Amino acid sequence: MKIFTTKGEIAEYLLQKRSAGKTIGLVPTMGALHNGHISLLAQAKAATGEVVCSIFVNPTQFNDPKDLEKYPRPIESDIEKLKSAGCDVLFNPPVSEVYAADEPAWHLDIGPLENMLEGKFRPGHYQGVTQVVFKLFDIIKPDMAFFGQKDYQQVLVISRMVELLKLPVKMVMCPIVREPGGLAMSSRNVHLSAQEKQDALALSQLLQLVKENFATHTLPELKELAAGFMSQQPALRMEYFEIADGDTLYPATADTPKVVALVAAWAGKTRLIDNMIIK
Ligand code: AMP
Repeated sequence: MKIFTTKGEIAEYLLQKRSAGKTIGLVPTMGALHNGHISLLAQAKAATGEVVCSIFVNPTQFNDPKDLEKYPRPIESDIEKLKSAGCDVLFNPPVSEVYAADEPAWHLDIGPLENMLEGKFRPGHYQGVTQVVFKLFDIIKPDMAFFGQKDYQQVLVISRMVELLKLPVKMVMCPIVREPGGLAMSSRNVHLSAQEKQDALALSQLLQLVKENFATHTLPELKELAAGFMSQQPALRMEYFEIADGDTLYPATADTPKVVALVAAWAGKTRLIDNMIIK
C-alpha cells in the first residue's frame, strides 16, 4: 500500500494510474477504522481499479473542541487494517497540508439540510464536512466516492454539493455495519463503557421497532410507540428522533415514498447516531 501525506505526491501518483486507465475509488474517513470502514473499502475495491482511503481528522467539522481532542487516532493499527483490506493508497495528510493559515472562508448553500437534525445539534458541522470533502475530491479526483449510510444526512449533503457544483464523482451509499447486538459500528464506540454499550443497544432496537410496526401503524402512532420505548431508557439522553422523508429529511407523511427513521442520543459523554431505512 502506498502512503502519501502531501497533496502534490498523491495527485501525481494518481495521474499516472488514471493515464494507465484505472478508475479511482475514494473512501474518506477520520481513521480509528472498524468493519464499517472496511466494508466501504470492499465496495470500492469491487467497483474501481485503484482504491484510496483518506484518514484525516477534519478540525472544521467539529463543533466541540473536546470531541476533536479526544477523537481516537490509532494510525499504526489503521495502516495494518488497510493493508489487510487490500487498500491501494492511504492519504494521511497533516492539517497544514489541507488548510492554509489564511484559509478563505467556506460557505456552500446546501439549503434546509444544513440546519435540520444533525445540523441543528452540530451547528457548522456540514460546512466543515463539505469543505473537507470538496478538498479531498479536488486532490484525489475520484470517479466514485463511497460513504456510509450510518451518516445518512451527510450522504444527502455531499450529494447536494456534487449536484450544485457539478462535480464529476459518482456517489455510492453503503449499508450500515452493526455489532452482533445491533449497535452501529462507530469510531466513538471505544469511548463507551460496558454499561453504556449495553444502554446504546436501545437505539437500534428503537429503529427496528419502528420498522416492524410501520406497515400496521400510522405515523403519529409510530411516534408515540417510539416515545414510549425511549421513555424506558433513562440512561440515554435523546437529541432527536424523526421519521423522515429519505430525500429531504422533512418529517414523513402518509404518502412519502422513501422513509428513513433517524436518531441521535448521548450515552454518558458519547454522542451516538443511527438510522434505518423503513420504506
Ligand atoms: P468516519 O471515519 O466516522 O468519518 O466515517 C467514514 C465513513 O465510514 C463515513 O462515510 C461513514 O458513514 C462510514 N461509516 C462509519 N460507520 C459505519 C458503519 N457502521 N457502517 C458503514 N459505514 C460506516
